[in-house]
Amino acid sequence: MTARIQTVAMALAFTVAACGAPKTPNASPDTGPLPLSALPVVDTDAVLAHTKVLSSDAFEGRGPGTPGEGKTVAYLVDQLTKMGLTPGNPDGTYVQKVPLVGITPTPANLTFRKGAQTLTATWKADVVAWSKRVTEEVRLVDSDVVFVGYGVQAPEFGWDDYKGLDVRGKTLLMLVNDPPVPDAAHPDTRDPKVFGGAAMTYYGRWTYKYEMGAKLGAAAVLLIHETEPAGYGFNVVQQKTGEQFDLVTPDRNMGRPAIEGWVSREHAAKLLGLAGQSLDALKAKAATRAFTPVPLGVSASITIRNALRTFDSQNVVARLEGRDPVRRGEHVIYTAHWDHFGVGARVNGDPIYHGAKDNASGTAGILEIARAFTKLPAPPQRSILFLFVTAEEQGLLGSQYYAVTPLYPLANALANINIDGLNVNGRTKDLVLIGLGASDLDDYARAAAAEQGRVITADAEPEKGLYYRSDHFNFAKQGVPALDPDEGIDFIGQPPDFGRRVREAYTSQHYHQPSDVVRPEWTLDGAREDLQLFLAVGYRVAEAARIPEWKAGNEFKATRDRMRGR
Ligand SMILES: [Zn+2]
Repeated sequence: MTARIQTVAMALAFTVAACGAPKTPNASPDTGPLPLSALPVVDTDAVLAHTKVLSSDAFEGRGPGTPGEGKTVAYLVDQLTKMGLTPGNPDGTYVQKVPLVGITPTPANLTFRKGAQTLTATWKADVVAWSKRVTEEVRLVDSDVVFVGYGVQAPEFGWDDYKGLDVRGKTLLMLVNDPPVPDAAHPDTRDPKVFGGAAMTYYGRWTYKYEMGAKLGAAAVLLIHETEPAGYGFNVVQQKTGEQFDLVTPDRNMGRPAIEGWVSREHAAKLLGLAGQSLDALKAKAATRAFTPVPLGVSASITIRNALRTFDSQNVVARLEGRDPVRRGEHVIYTAHWDHFGVGARVNGDPIYHGAKDNASGTAGILEIARAFTKLPAPPQRSILFLFVTAEEQGLLGSQYYAVTPLYPLANALANINIDGLNVNGRTKDLVLIGLGASDLDDYARAAAAEQGRVITADAEPEKGLYYRSDHFNFAKQGVPALDPDEGIDFIGQPPDFGRRVREAYTSQHYHQPSDVVRPEWTLDGAREDLQLFLAVGYRVAEAARIPEWKAGNEFKATRDRMRGR
């Protein structure tokens, strides 16, 4: 950056800070005093170097609660300290403790009873059940089973599958995904105005279904597994029979249903047969607003013993204080998960799950975005938090902990920008935004992309609900507008299907495998542009006169409005 630009930038910055007036009140989004090309350059040689260190054998795959965690946290704290960033925890440290529990259930069958008739759901073959309660034994005894359709309460769509039924102590049997409401004009397609049409909303996610059960005081929630609406086979559900991690809440998760789980479609059909019902007929009713819950006249019983392992893991957090004495209380939060799977089953002789792309690369990217912020001529008006979260691979737990136990009020968090994996294959003409259309942050990203001569594109598979599967989602759920960028697919100087091919190759060969390592053919030229764009978006939100909001109709807007006192 030249001295002249610096001077102009400083002058502009102080003008804005002094009068607090929007520079261009009707422009959306705010561009801030510096164009993208004048921002400090994110150093991708350093990104690559951090990625190599974090994914090396010495870091043992960065498993939470393992020696690899200690090394990772020490490395991040060392880097952040050397950059001159302030400890992000108001207690004066760079860490936030995250209480975790590993729960391993003992296999147990589930018994359904109707009068003298019984039907046994065999552990793993027919049912995969667990308890997230941090207790050694949970019992479900003769709990009445009620079919509640999709188990959804969505006021913005005028939808309520419960119709006021008291389900406390009951076992809720539910369908997965959003209610597939047909479009009146085109009955073969979904109504685009209800539950996002073909795109999955959070109401469709299995995590939502268990949360609803907890909210309504149900004793158990059982989801009927169907491959198409779930997006994966029952074999994937069957992998959930081992140790599962969760946060230890102050009530030791006793507010969760005693039992959560899945039943196979085949077994659900048998269960409904026992109740004199048919799955297809119930599904048809469940796709309508008029649906009312169907008590099955069947009870469910199961006892699960848990082996418990509790330990603290750590989020790492650093802060760059904003220069405006008032606005510095507001902040932009960058996140990347530092954790991976640690040491596990050997694949091709290698027991270390290196997680180079997932997510040593994103962690490294945030480190260097942080460094770029320290090189600005002056800090932005608002503050920036750089948050490296733990236990993403175990269910987004570190980010969940921050989102429910924030170090600074989330009403003052203006945006979350999350990186989970960098593009390592070269420059792209586009950047994909998962959940495009969710918030004004899309406009910030689009404006920054345009300055790079690039475009923003939508995720090709909105029906998979990817927006609900990474750390930014925990911020969205609490109302904070959150950006979930994915790498582009249109590579410069490559054949049209190159993007799809490299993505498929990674997914099939290296994703969540020990072989996710830094490769000689990696190039971070594309990542440099992506990181520069993320830097610009965060910087501009931190300078904005008009803060980003969710778009009208978004499912998180009501939470944000409540939080901001509107
Ligand atoms: Zn992962």
